Amino acid sequence: MSFKFQISHQEKNGRARTGVIETPHGSIKTPAFIPVGTKATVKSTLPDSISSLGAQAVLANAYHLYLQPGSQTIDEAGGLGKFMNWPGPTFTDSGGFQVMSLGAGFKKVIDMQGDGLDENLTESKERLAEVDEEGVTFKSHLDGSSHRFTPEISMQVQHEIGADIIFAFDELTTLYHDKRYQEDSLERTRRWALRCLDEHDRLTKERRERPYQALFGVLQGAHYEDLRRKAARDLATMSSSGIEFDGFGIGGAIEKSRLGEIVGWVVDELPQAKPRHLLGIGEPTDLFEGVENGADTFDCVAPTREARTSAVYSTSGRFNVSGGAYRKDFSPIDDSCQCYTCKNYSRAYLNHLFRSKEILGPTLATIHNVSFIVDLVAKMRSALESGNFPEFKESFLGKYKQKG
Ligand SMILES: [Zn+2]
Repeated sequence: MSFKFQISHQEKNGRARTGVIETPHGSIKTPAFIPVGTKATVKSTLPDSISSLGAQAVLANAYHLYLQPGSQTIDEAGGLGKFMNWPGPTFTDSGGFQVMSLGAGFKKVIDMQGDGLDENLTESKERLAEVDEEGVTFKSHLDGSSHRFTPEISMQVQHEIGADIIFAFDELTTLYHDKRYQEDSLERTRRWALRCLDEHDRLTKERRERPYQALFGVLQGAHYEDLRRKAARDLATMSSSGIEFDGFGIGGAIEKSRLGEIVGWVVDELPQAKPRHLLGIGEPTDLFEGVENGADTFDCVAPTREARTSAVYSTSGRFNVSGGAYRKDFSPIDDSCQCYTCKNYSRAYLNHLFRSKEILGPTLATIHNVSFIVDLVAKMRSALESGNFPEFKESFLGKYKQKG
């Protein structure tokens, strides 16, 4: 097995830490932001550019790749990294979020999880998914064809895709489900987690010539402290077929204003020695909350999705570079940013590209946004190691306006 997590630094009076995750395709220094390449591509950008700006891994989506081109095709290609020409570590999420967010409460999921929402599904508003004890039946958002995901199928799909870190199949609930439903759902997710461990173990043995894939259990429980803590305890101590989870994903319905508190509950129940991934979180303010409360890795579509609509990050907040004010602004998007876009192009040029709908606009804005967020989390790591995380947080957030 070539998966390891080592803690390099642990805050004495807090949950935050730095560390290194080792995978068969290389290591990830944590905390780290993992850019999303939903369909095995970080939209509009070359893998070379994503690697040059300092990203250490990418996260793709099992649901989308299962539908197109099919996980078997990726298996035949030699796995996700080889298929998309990304030599570093890769993640796939289980598809649970996507198949479930096709279902009841989908509109409400949008309301509460605007940042993490799957941009490829937003057109579909029809009820397309049904959950039962065994799994989820859903209709493809592409052609309406009927499909079924179970914990076993999600594991099979993720083994064929072949990412270094994969996630257990869980049921996504929304903040609008009542507590009774959340309790039942959490129990179902727990039973599914056991089935994921069994199937993962079977596939790992069957495909022993392939690089080892680490399986993370996913914690649900919405905003209920007792449910979140129970989920963390259940999955932390879970063992089946002689194996345990290699790490944990914190998922599901999270009110942004309570993010730090919720991450703190589960982190206090989880073992120190295993990595924790916060699913679908990528706004600067939220990243500080996550890191401060002990999350190690993060992914989110926001930096790439925002970039394609000309919204760019800067140290004073996010702004829309296609706005009239930037027509003759020959300064870079951000003076202090060292990315390829900021070193070579002005706001005026980006403004022109977006206004004339040139393809290079989204490409350059994506390079900047991903660079900005990857770099921000890397700076948090440095600040933790040099003992000035609280000062760094205060100074960054003092200047940054979330919706600037
Ligand atoms: Zn930049």
